[in-house]
Amino acid sequence: MTPSMTGIFGGTFDPPHLGHLILASESLWQLGLDRLLWVLTPDPPHKPSQPITPLALRLEMLRLALSDEPRFEICDIEIDRPGPHYTVDTLRQLRAADPSRELVYLMGGDSLRDLPNWREPAEILRLCHKLGVMRRPYDEVDLDALERVLPGIREKVRMVEVPLLQVSSSQVRQRVAAGQSFRYYLHPKVYDYIVQSGLYRPDLD
Ligand code: ATP
Repeated sequence: MTPSMTGIFGGTFDPPHLGHLILASESLWQLGLDRLLWVLTPDPPHKPSQPITPLALRLEMLRLALSDEPRFEICDIEIDRPGPHYTVDTLRQLRAADPSRELVYLMGGDSLRDLPNWREPAEILRLCHKLGVMRRPYDEVDLDALERVLPGIREKVRMVEVPLLQVSSSQVRQRVAAGQSFRYYLHPKVYDYIVQSGLYRPDLD
């Protein structure tokens, strides 16, 4: 029997945008995933100086963003664990919960470039069957350089083939704050939620 392939997609999702959804949905079929767990990080260790939207609101936006695809699931493993939240601990916990499944960790090219600075990157590689990577504009991915610091990474990386998408959560937050249009960067339900809640609008704080 072929082992089940479970994708893991960690992020701050403040807010979840179409770049996240396209990476996730392309990965389902390009990498042959059975399901994809979205791991919402309560307090990301790599974004200490950035004010982050309260967890309950990010969770609600993520719930709305994922509502059309039954293979997408929110995973509350980090929410239930005291911080700081490191990916390596999440992967260990998921592997221990079901050692038979293969874990595929999804990330953008910017995260891949930073991976050597994450906690225990070699252990992250060991715990993952593959890393599914979608390139991002300006991500400067250099697999030769990464292989020198993290031997074995090249054979784990699978590129998810999609057009480069110049959309980020910070850009969406800035567009909302500046009163610029932002509807088509987001799932329609996330767009409606942001408009109705006044989130990211400094004038409504
Ligand atoms: P911010 O702009 O606030 O830093 P973000 O848009 O990078 O946020 P995160 O929630 O931090 O969103 O990202 C989670 C994961 O999604 C990361 O691995 C990131 O590289 C990836 N990602 C986000 N946007 C894109 C995109 N447009 N193309 C490819 N990968 C992306």
